[in-house]
Amino acid sequence: MTNQNVVASETMALAVTTVANPSPIFPYPQLNDCSSGFAVRTKCLPQLDHESKDGRVNAWLESLKASSPTHAKAAAKPAATHPEAGPFWTTTHPSALDMFGEITGASVGKQIVMFLDYDGTLSPIVDDPNRAFMSVEMRDTVRDVAKYFPTAIVSGRCRHKVYSFVRLAELCYAGSHGMDIKIPAKGHILMKANAKAVLCQPASKYLPMIDKVYRALLETTKSIPGAKVENNKFCLSVHFRCVNKKRWSTLADQVRSVVEAYPKLKVSIGRKVLEIRPSIKWDKGKALEFLLESLGFTNCKDVFPVYIGDDRTDEDAFKVLRSRGHGSAILVSKMPKETDASYSLQEPSEVMDFLQRLVEWKRRSVEACPKV
Ligand SMILES: [Mg+2]
Repeated sequence: MTNQNVVASETMALAVTTVANPSPIFPYPQLNDCSSGFAVRTKCLPQLDHESKDGRVNAWLESLKASSPTHAKAAAKPAATHPEAGPFWTTTHPSALDMFGEITGASVGKQIVMFLDYDGTLSPIVDDPNRAFMSVEMRDTVRDVAKYFPTAIVSGRCRHKVYSFVRLAELCYAGSHGMDIKIPAKGHILMKANAKAVLCQPASKYLPMIDKVYRALLETTKSIPGAKVENNKFCLSVHFRCVNKKRWSTLADQVRSVVEAYPKLKVSIGRKVLEIRPSIKWDKGKALEFLLESLGFTNCKDVFPVYIGDDRTDEDAFKVLRSRGHGSAILVSKMPKETDASYSLQEPSEVMDFLQRLVEWKRRSVEACPKV
């Protein structure tokens, strides 16, 4: 059996960038008649189970195509200058750098807890996800952030892989879209006294099934040049980015043929990727809530979560912050998108600027008033 379509669990990213769309605000990939946003899209997914095989594959293909602008097109027009964005985007989702004072002002008297996506947030999106390295300067910045704020990396990647990129033992890590959470045994100096070392894997009972489907997908898709199957331990990704678009339909049908035998798994659509994961009610939003509780911050009055991410799956965390009515959700995107985030940053370099300003602000606060 050829291994041309194998992507080791620790060697491939879930590629996410901005979404091009003729409308001023760019929605995440949609399915059929679903009208807006990720929450609606995920609700629509089960309906596909009742559609014809062709209908399901066609729906996947439409969404894959809608979510697959070229890097050049996505990068060509930053949100603030996109001709169709208008002032609406910068008004409704202003730059977190411009609104730095408002964000830090809202956090006064509370402990900031930082949540950071990896790909597209701390590292640039690149054609070869194996080389999505974070810069030395970014690593130093995140290390400084963790000196002042409990910090968690929340990624779609396998937890061990994202750790191999970040390499900061003092952080918490939530891999597989939050389905694999580890809080360091030593704990964080800023954790509450009742915080605890934790390994949380809510989808662990699905591991044998995930592994079985992974092997089936490898075998089934091996005839498609460029098809890549990634094992993220608790979820799987079938990447279309290196597959000729003329073969997308065949590849999507192959995925359907494997997954349809496993009703306890669900398929979601990302940028040139089909993602297969357990149908459990667990996502990055649940991971955020779990981490806050585990770190000892169950009281909303004394904590101020800041979540920065560019991924469609980060919207689940944005939604949690919006429903809790506190904290700051920051979307990393060059293009306007439908989002539950309140603020925006255009790219990882702006994320680093924001984090460095946050560290400097906190450092000065501590120096001015050691008990702040
Ligand atoms: Mg990302």
